Amino acid sequence: MEDSISKFEKKLSKYRPTKKARIMKAVEWAQLKHGDQKRASGEPFFIHPLKVAEFLVDLGMDQETIIAALLHDVLEDTATSETEMRKEFGREVVNLVDGVTKISLVKAKSKSIQETETMRKMLMAMTKDIRVIIIKLSDKLHNMQTLQYLPEEKKKRIAKECIEIYVPLADRLGISGLKTDLEDLALKHLKPDVYEQLSGTINLAHNENLAYLKKIEKTILKAAKNEGIEIEVTTRAKHIYSVYLKMKKRKKAVDEINDLLGIRILCNTTNECYTLLGLVHRIWPPIANRFKDYIAMPKSNHYQSLHTTVMGFDGRILEVQIRTYAMHYTAEYGVAAHWIYKENTDSSKIEELAIINKLKRWNEQHVPQAEFWEDVKTELLKDSIYVFTPKGHIVEMAKDATPIDFAYHIHTEVGNRCIGAKADGSIIPLNTPLKNTQVVEILTSNRGKPNINWLRFARTQKAKTKIRQWLNKNTEDLIIEKNIIAKSKPLHEEPEKDKTDQASKSEKKDLTNIVKHVVDSSKVSFKIGDEKNMMISLANCCKPTTGDSIIGYVSRGRGIIVHRTDCPNLKNINEFKERSVIVEWEAVSPTASRRFEVTSKITNDLFSEIEGSIRKFGGHLIEGKLEENDKGNLKGNFTMEMTKGVDYKQILKSIRTIPSVINIRPLS
Ligand code: MN
Repeated sequence: MEDSISKFEKKLSKYRPTKKARIMKAVEWAQLKHGDQKRASGEPFFIHPLKVAEFLVDLGMDQETIIAALLHDVLEDTATSETEMRKEFGREVVNLVDGVTKISLVKAKSKSIQETETMRKMLMAMTKDIRVIIIKLSDKLHNMQTLQYLPEEKKKRIAKECIEIYVPLADRLGISGLKTDLEDLALKHLKPDVYEQLSGTINLAHNENLAYLKKIEKTILKAAKNEGIEIEVTTRAKHIYSVYLKMKKRKKAVDEINDLLGIRILCNTTNECYTLLGLVHRIWPPIANRFKDYIAMPKSNHYQSLHTTVMGFDGRILEVQIRTYAMHYTAEYGVAAHWIYKENTDSSKIEELAIINKLKRWNEQHVPQAEFWEDVKTELLKDSIYVFTPKGHIVEMAKDATPIDFAYHIHTEVGNRCIGAKADGSIIPLNTPLKNTQVVEILTSNRGKPNINWLRFARTQKAKTKIRQWLNKNTEDLIIEKNIIAKSKPLHEEPEKDKTDQASKSEKKDLTNIVKHVVDSSKVSFKIGDEKNMMISLANCCKPTTGDSIIGYVSRGRGIIVHRTDCPNLKNINEFKERSVIVEWEAVSPTASRRFEVTSKITNDLFSEIEGSIRKFGGHLIEGKLEENDKGNLKGNFTMEMTKGVDYKQILKSIRTIPSVINIRPLS
């Protein structure tokens, strides 16, 4: 213990004497407060906050953060009051400790609610003072380093949570040192044998290649000197988790991964980066499609660098990163960089970070709790891409975003009237993930309107909310709530008929009747054609989970209750058949999509005729676009979706019989 404290004290030499004294006072105070509490390892408890503070000293954080780290478990684990702490260390420290304590104190009925709430608290705390999260991440790092003392099952759960939450968070905050440490530690506990094998192989490869890398380094140093550029070259062993991801992605064993070698070149100016890139490519031929310019297109966590992969000496593959010292600093420390010298704190820069802005927007939109967690995982913690509008404006989107997300990002009305999309000039299906730097154009029409399936294409919270809103408001026989879509169609009906068909009108009436019961008997109301407010809930008996085959029951007074189709209780429910409605999972597509190409003579009605043919046989037209070709015909691609059992051939046949159609060809 004394050893650890004196080691810690030595590291404080970079702080001014008064600051150092205050930090050491906190060491003493916290040690006293924790008394003889012990960790699972049997060590004195105070080792933990001391280590957490030490990481932050290594990061060079300001004194308030260091002190808060030393005290971070005092409020939760000892009988000390906030007032007492405030008297000793001031309001700023107490606020930080309070932020960290609140995150860990979230206790809820179920594990998943607890996780969600913890995450929400953490993210919200971050928008107030990002240092809370930096402390929390260091806390996590030490806990991960001492995980071996915990029981197997707990170990795995914590490691998994680390990969799912803390690693992406560190990444989005741009603290890459912390991120890679957490990743490697998580892998070590999740897949111990993989970890052992990889770390052995990687270290061996690195050591065996030291001479080779030295030669590479010399060559670059010489070439740069000839150009009058001062540089620093580092050769590094890859970190274990990144190699693991490569193996998984390429489905290869570690000895089949041939790009384990990497070098990094640091220089002074951006111009020099590009000059150096040219030099490297002149010495060793670049490998196609492996060049990335994160200087012109920084990642949303502000990471900047040039990445290229070249064929080095002896035909060996070599990864090269080129960046300035300043870029390197941002890459290593991310948001923490802004706190390193308190005097230099520039909070406006922190707010520019995309993750913070997104959080603030979400907070204003009041995202329902149930959706929050999913959205955090699918949207917030993912990397971003940048695409362009046809006018050249740059738009940042989540990595898997589709044209639907883009359309709603531009404007709600653009989304609501979208009928198709083009990327770099060619039509793409609305469910295609957009790629970095594409020019995206949304085709709109006054006849365009949102389709239920769009909920499955949309990745962003904004687009999903807008689509749900539109559908709930404008579709009489549809209710969407909590990831479930309820339709008023009776079960086992024939494929949907034409709009003019009398049958469908009477079906709607049926629902009106059923629904009236509900209005009469409770506060739940469902006004057709106006505003609807029908609750959807999951049955307690069979507890359906996403992806299960489900059916809805319009209860008296308790809204629509969703059961699994194989729930044994269904046969005992009164009037089940009469009061059942179709429900499906918003996130799971029950349908298959098909694409085809149509060539036709020029005509005005083709679009609606094709749509009619598809509808007649139970499919849904998702999107389509016709353009005049150089032969004076119309030509275009269409995408349709259909449930299982729908006869695709029949649909194609029906379209072929439209008089103006010259040719139709299935595409996929
Ligand atoms: Mn802790």
